[in-house]
Amino acid sequence: MAPTHVLRCCQRGLAWIPVIFIALVVCWSYYAYVVELCIITIPSTGEKIVYLVLFHLSFIMFVWSYWMTIFTRPANPSKEFCLPKVEKEQYEKEERPENQQEILKRVASSLPLYTRTGAGAIRYCDRCQVIKPDRCHHCSACDMCVLKMDHHCPWVNNCVGFSNYKYFILFLAYSLVYCLFIAATVLQYFIKFWTNELPDTHAKFHVLFLFFVAAMFCISILSLFSYHLWLVGKNRSTIEAFRAPVFRNGPDKNGFSLGFTKNVAQVFGDEKKYWLCPIFTSQGDGLTFPTRLVNIDPEQPTVIIQPDSSKSVEDGSVPQSPMSDSQNRLLGSDHHISDDHLSIDPLKSDGTDDITVYLESES
Ligand SMILES: [Zn+2]
Ligand SMILES: [Zn+2]
Repeated sequence: MAPTHVLRCCQRGLAWIPVIFIALVVCWSYYAYVVELCIITIPSTGEKIVYLVLFHLSFIMFVWSYWMTIFTRPANPSKEFCLPKVEKEQYEKEERPENQQEILKRVASSLPLYTRTGAGAIRYCDRCQVIKPDRCHHCSACDMCVLKMDHHCPWVNNCVGFSNYKYFILFLAYSLVYCLFIAATVLQYFIKFWTNELPDTHAKFHVLFLFFVAAMFCISILSLFSYHLWLVGKNRSTIEAFRAPVFRNGPDKNGFSLGFTKNVAQVFGDEKKYWLCPIFTSQGDGLTFPTRLVNIDPEQPTVIIQPDSSKSVEDGSVPQSPMSDSQNRLLGSDHHISDDHLSIDPLKSDGTDDITVYLESES
């Protein structure tokens, strides 16, 4: 076996240590709560039953969302974002970056891309040999490009991105509920520990540590959870919060924000009854995202599209989109379209008669 292969296997194995650590803490907390607290320490049967039922509810939701966050594979760019064979060969032969950019631009002209690198170039991953869709980033830990990558999380040994972001938020929420519930119900027995009212068995040390561990996790999860709720409300990934996405008219940290309600719906879906379930309900395909620059006021009259870009709108009030050459097969595909919204791009940059039409669905 090649040394690099062995090294990689070791790295993969070691990466599970934080997950195993969390799993062991959770197993111990289950044993300590159910056996040592509820069965051994609590004298009242009614109290035991209520605690056990509520504990198991929060435990199941917590384990379910944690499981989904860990074992949902990150979503990768689709085949459309790979260079076609001819262009790929040209790209590899070409040594000058500006010529390589020309090749990328040619391929990207048929893709729904709104964002660029800081220098205004098409975002391309040399490692995966793929044009990066908007909000997609290469994760060096996973060694792949991940759609709407948020961050690589060692506690779940997985990339948090488009495919599992909802699960991750629910994992934080349910772990907070789990810890808060334990801390709140253990508190009175924790106080009894210090006043020497607990029977002198080893159970009392489990009770003591249950409270400490639950309180400690509560504090650390609360800050992370609040931060991610704020990000969901703003429709930003952690990466975008640190470095604003660059559109054709420059960086715009709110470029993907569509307003609080729509931002939340993008992650959690339209149907509120599924919001708290760790099942996939996020909107879209992870390859394209509506940007506020292509959204149009629903009150506006329908526009008349004419080939002549300078006189293409009826009342001249259509907002100008900076992503004119991002004309698109994918945005135009059936499942992206509803007839509610129509916006046009009057600034087709190459001066041809084509005009870019964006159809945005309004929920
Ligand atoms: Zn990549
Ligand atoms: Zn990763």
